[in-house]
Amino acid sequence: MSPNTCLAKKNCTQLPFYKLGVGRPPSFKRGMRAPFLVSRQGWSGFPLDFLLSLRYNSNMHKMFQYRIYPTKKQLTKLIETLEECRWLYNHLLGKRKDTYEQTGKGLTLYQQINTFPILKQERSSLSEVHSQVLQNVAVRVDLAMKAFFRRCKAGEDPGYPRFKGKGRNDSFTFPQSGFSLTHDKCVCLSKIGSIKMVYHRPIKGKIKTCTIQRSSTSKWYVSFSVEYEPERLPEVPTQVGIDVGLKTFAMLSDGTEIENPHFFRKEEKALAKIQHKHSKLANGTPERRKHRKAVARVHERIAWRRENFTHQASRKIVNSYGVICVEDLQVNRMTHNHCLAKSITDASWSAFFAQLTAKAEEAGRQFVKVNPAYTSQTCSQCGHRQKMPLDVRVFACPCCHVQLNRDLNAALNIRAVGLHSLGLSLEASVLQPEE
Ligand SMILES: [Zn+2]
Repeated sequence: MSPNTCLAKKNCTQLPFYKLGVGRPPSFKRGMRAPFLVSRQGWSGFPLDFLLSLRYNSNMHKMFQYRIYPTKKQLTKLIETLEECRWLYNHLLGKRKDTYEQTGKGLTLYQQINTFPILKQERSSLSEVHSQVLQNVAVRVDLAMKAFFRRCKAGEDPGYPRFKGKGRNDSFTFPQSGFSLTHDKCVCLSKIGSIKMVYHRPIKGKIKTCTIQRSSTSKWYVSFSVEYEPERLPEVPTQVGIDVGLKTFAMLSDGTEIENPHFFRKEEKALAKIQHKHSKLANGTPERRKHRKAVARVHERIAWRRENFTHQASRKIVNSYGVICVEDLQVNRMTHNHCLAKSITDASWSAFFAQLTAKAEEAGRQFVKVNPAYTSQTCSQCGHRQKMPLDVRVFACPCCHVQLNRDLNAALNIRAVGLHSLGLSLEASVLQPEE
């Protein structure tokens, strides 16, 4: 291979990693504020902690989700509750909009909650829903408005929070009480009844909120948000860099490859087929409405299989490595290929990294996201930089004559940048040169 332009210029032997930027600390979340910054004035008897727990998703929270099987009677009740919540949501949102247009001022969460007694007199069906569920609807409206104004402030052009159309409300939440778990593994909901639940794994931690959800395929779930003491894993000295690639799902810096699962291709075909059929059905016809379920079913199946795969992959990594460095996909370098298989893998990477972050934090592992700039163009051994077109699978360095798999080289760089940003030194690495 001819010696390409050396982008690092003068000194090829020095690692130019200081130029690559560092990732941000893993616990930082955009827009997150400490709860104590919120004034407690004006809170009169409302479950502050629970309202806050919805707003500030701390790392010590976890969701446990279970499938529930309501009886016909309960099903009617659940759907009625969803519809009442939808009506209230639209009503509160409308009130905010009107007030803003008339007076130029917004309404606060508490002003809105204070109107509930009058609302209940006007609309008696609201009394059929647990009062805290209704309060939670007001919190949701408040969050939607806050997000809207935040984005306005940031100079974006957000759409006004939308009114929910018929059947468009999919969940309601008990933020504090009104629900319980019975000894025979049922979930008992106030004003609805005791619903059969598949308790497939035990809940660990203190239950905070309970949310009932209807999926796009009309399956019902209950999810509990719990506060829990994270279980630290025993410390291990190993460090790993992970490069996600087009050929394999991910490449680890110790040479381990995580293959793309075969179902990515298969599901892509199934999705293309069913979406094509869906697009041919005329809008608004009963056939199309019926077929929507079939499309939702394919999406659901893809989501399940993908989730299963990424959960297993991320669990293995968190169990075996003490320091985990990944590239920051926010700095997106893969925007060039827009086929379906790509969108599936893209979504999988995001989910994979999110799960890695959560599992690493729980286990007490060090986790860092690094800027992926130049990680595939830089020699991981001597720091020489050269252009690497996508079809070149081997990084052959003209300076130190090392020959490495392209993805492995990138993974090694990601590990080095990550360790640098954490202020750690490299443990002795074992290289496996490409045959
Ligand atoms: Zn080199």
